[in-house]
Amino acid sequence: MNIILLGPPGAGKGTQAKRLQDTYGIVQLSTGDMLRAEVASDSALGRQVKAVMEAGSLVADDILIALIDHRIDQPDCAKGFILDGFPRTVAQAEALDAMLAKKRLKLDAVIEMVVDDAALVTRIAGRYTCATCGAGYHDQFKPTKVPGVCDACGSRDLTRRTDDTASTVNARLKAYHGLTKPLLPYYRARGVLHAVDGMAEIDEVAGQIEAALAKVGAVPKRAGKPAAAAKRGAKKGASPG
Ligand code: AMP
Repeated sequence: MNIILLGPPGAGKGTQAKRLQDTYGIVQLSTGDMLRAEVASDSALGRQVKAVMEAGSLVADDILIALIDHRIDQPDCAKGFILDGFPRTVAQAEALDAMLAKKRLKLDAVIEMVVDDAALVTRIAGRYTCATCGAGYHDQFKPTKVPGVCDACGSRDLTRRTDDTASTVNARLKAYHGLTKPLLPYYRARGVLHAVDGMAEIDEVAGQIEAALAKVGAVPKRAGKPAAAAKRGAKKGASPG
């Protein structure tokens, strides 16, 4: 099962991708995470993309295409993958089509997470992550139980993305509306686009995604136990990504 999660920054793609990973046993491929890892390791690629990312602009298509092309070939992608943050331009989508055809792979579904821009700024500006285990939090919607301490692993190493500032959010939203939104008609024309309400509670969004994926034959790895129902308790808008 190969899926794309499409939506503006702060729509909850990362949160839902992690859940899909658990539910279906397929791997999350977040191009933002991959690029941040390159920046953190101070690699040649990381040095090349750092300033572009901090400005909230898009990194060059050829860099992203090469990154995904290589990543999809890794053994952990054999059962399928969830693309989170890729493609973001029509050129990337066309390259992905060619890449999948060459690898004899199929795109099963594109999930559009529909959210309104006003909510995104609040969501993005308040989010933070545990650097140790990756758990996501939000100042307003999902704070840690003990301030400054990760609920999941007890680490005190909580971090905020350098591009999660009010000034870059606008640049990122502009990039989404100008360059990424044209992907909606692109995938609608191919009959693979499914819209879900990204403003709903996290469990509800997960349920809508599972329902869309069921239509294209996806079977949760814990058959008989709907994953969205198994994870009650998350609050509305508590989206780290
Ligand atoms: P994200 O974590 O998906 O919000 O991505 C963070 C930043 O990484 C973006 O604002 C871009 O600068 C860069 N980036 C991630 N994915 C892509 C992509 N597919 N195309 C271009 N730039 C990307």
